[in-house]
Amino acid sequence: MTALGAPSRGRRRTRVRVTGTVQGVGFRPYVYRLAGELGLGGYVLNDTHGVLLEVEGGAGAVDAFLARLGPDAPPLAVVERVLAEERATTGQADFTIRPSLGGGAPDAPVTPDTATCPGCLRELFDPADRRYRYPFINCTNCGPRFTIIRGVPYDRPKTTMASFTMCVACQAEYEDPTDRRFHAQPNACPVCGPSLRLVGDVIADDPIAATVTALRAGAIVAIKGIGGYHLACQADDELAAAALRARKHREDKPFALMAPSLAGAESLVALDERARDLLSSPARPIVLAPRRSGAPVATAVAPGARELGVMLPYSPLHHLLLADAGTTLVLTSANLSDEPIAYRDDDALERLAGIADLFLVHDRPIETRTDDSVVRAAPRRMVVRRSRGYVPGALSLPGAGAPRPLLACGAELKNTFCLARGERAWVSHHIGDLENYETLRSFTEGIEHFSRLFAVEPEVVVHDLHPEYLSTKYAFELDGVELVGVQHHHAHLAACLAEHGEAGPAIGAIFDGTGYGLDGSVWGGEILLGSLGDFTRVGHLLPVRLPGGTQAVREPWRMACSWLVAGAVEPPAAWRPIAELARSGLASPWTTSMGRLFDAVAALAGIRAEINYEGQAAIELEAACDFSERGSYPIVLTGEPLVIDPRETIRAIAADVAAGESPGAIARRFHRTIATATVEACVRLAAAHATEVVVLSGGVFQNRMLLESVAGGLAAAGLRVLTPERLPAGDGGISYGQAAVAAARP
Ligand code: ZN
Ligand code: ZN
Ligand code: FE
Repeated sequence: MTALGAPSRGRRRTRVRVTGTVQGVGFRPYVYRLAGELGLGGYVLNDTHGVLLEVEGGAGAVDAFLARLGPDAPPLAVVERVLAEERATTGQADFTIRPSLGGGAPDAPVTPDTATCPGCLRELFDPADRRYRYPFINCTNCGPRFTIIRGVPYDRPKTTMASFTMCVACQAEYEDPTDRRFHAQPNACPVCGPSLRLVGDVIADDPIAATVTALRAGAIVAIKGIGGYHLACQADDELAAAALRARKHREDKPFALMAPSLAGAESLVALDERARDLLSSPARPIVLAPRRSGAPVATAVAPGARELGVMLPYSPLHHLLLADAGTTLVLTSANLSDEPIAYRDDDALERLAGIADLFLVHDRPIETRTDDSVVRAAPRRMVVRRSRGYVPGALSLPGAGAPRPLLACGAELKNTFCLARGERAWVSHHIGDLENYETLRSFTEGIEHFSRLFAVEPEVVVHDLHPEYLSTKYAFELDGVELVGVQHHHAHLAACLAEHGEAGPAIGAIFDGTGYGLDGSVWGGEILLGSLGDFTRVGHLLPVRLPGGTQAVREPWRMACSWLVAGAVEPPAAWRPIAELARSGLASPWTTSMGRLFDAVAALAGIRAEINYEGQAAIELEAACDFSERGSYPIVLTGEPLVIDPRETIRAIAADVAAGESPGAIARRFHRTIATATVEACVRLAAAHATEVVVLSGGVFQNRMLLESVAGGLAAAGLRVLTPERLPAGDGGISYGQAAVAAARP
């Protein structure tokens, strides 16, 4: 090889293997152009490992090629590794794109849906361009991917674009390696591609202009997007926003907003550099940021919320709509409360008939329902919902990864599932709450879809320990697989460790609403000492009764009763029957849930007695906090395992309530109390078990005030704090954690 491959008279031939996300992102035409520019011969092709290429020419030109290959790659490419090897020269002067080599399973055959790129945007608003104001413009650098794919290999016939035949002009772009649309599978134009239609009581030549007119007049419009339908109205229209809230039966949950520009977003929320980057990123998530006083939004958009969820236009349709409207729109997922987002046309028209006045629809089918992702950028990155724009991007598993292909079924609420093979893990889009039949179907169909896309035939199936979770039941019904049960809070801990590439051991403060404990009780205020493979419970919240079981989740005042009973405080007369239930323990399982403690305090402080969506009481308790308040309540840490005992806290809160103290002061004092106790508990346990790493996860840590004070306190004590950044702290991260645990077990 040395003799053959020795460079002769300054001429060289080099074979290059590129791995990462390099297929379906315009990598081959990019290589073709780069080689052409440098006057090199050779070839490039896709195979199962990524991209393989050879270049031949002057040694200087080959060096220049290698130097630029990674850094100049197209925007959607993620180059992980470039391996170069000298070959014998052949004298080849031309450069060709060769057919793909099949066989085996590619690592990244499908990329996430991506926001309209600058090139397409310029054409969209250029009156001279043939795609001027065409709502489905896209190229290899942008457009729909995951939501339109039906199977692999990723080619047009295997997408929902299959029924559209490209016109001569589009076909020419598609076949031209120098064109931005070379092998852009959803390539389309007004002549050959999908088209818009306005359904309702209007006659419209221009569906977008007519939609904007209707929105200005106060209409609610259902708009078909990338991953499903949205419901839109003008964000500053009090009547329309209130009507939308009433018709959706969404009593309190904030609506997401789409601003026409970054400047428009700045008028709504306070943004720092990280938040601005995130808003403008190709994934275009909904970004949660502090609401500006005087933000021009109707009262009904986000009653009582300190943060607003804002996004920027991500499809060409949105760009046209927002440019014409010139103002912020409410763009909330189209569903009745608790139902999954509508995405099939007939279903949407039927289900949304009582909500929307008009429907802005199109004829490109959505294959996979995908909600908007929700992310907070500051003060630290936190993903609340990981879906459109991020899925199905692969995450890695630490170490050697999964020795055998596996499926992790996730939790029950805010479900995601996860498939893993080797060091790669594919976490699904946000599926939702499995108790709903529609979502359960998305779950089972989604698993089949992902198994095909990523060629994972699970030999190991991982499930939660809760026997009644529908995801657990699904696992139990599978034949011929090895089942692995993973405790819920251990999965939260492992997910956070694994996304940071760590194996532990670490102390994990895992606070959430509900998770099945090893003793069969309802856990949720747990301090674990754990690594990826196993854990011990080294601390927890004092157990109390959950009066009436799950009903106590919807009715926080029941938890207030329970905690008053535990604290030996006489409850108000109206609460006595439930206090009796808590005292007797009848139909009232034990729980160490931290989420339920927050519920109880929200009810005691008079902030919220019953909830309309998961986590509402805790969210409102946080929002109520009076920041000028510096006090806190007594709380006790005792025993081994270490018990966080807030009975004195409850007594002090009851006294504050009786004395007429403001809810804001109580809320803030309570937050400070729990934060201090958590820091103290973690510091003690970390010292006792000789570790310096602390993981903070579980849905309760979506509470920004709690998270920041605990993380700050731990860092000040010299501990290293890990928090979930790429996956939710809530149950959307469970499936990946389950996969990490199973992969780490021998
Ligand atoms: Zn583009
Ligand atoms: Zn065309
Ligand atoms: Fe959880």
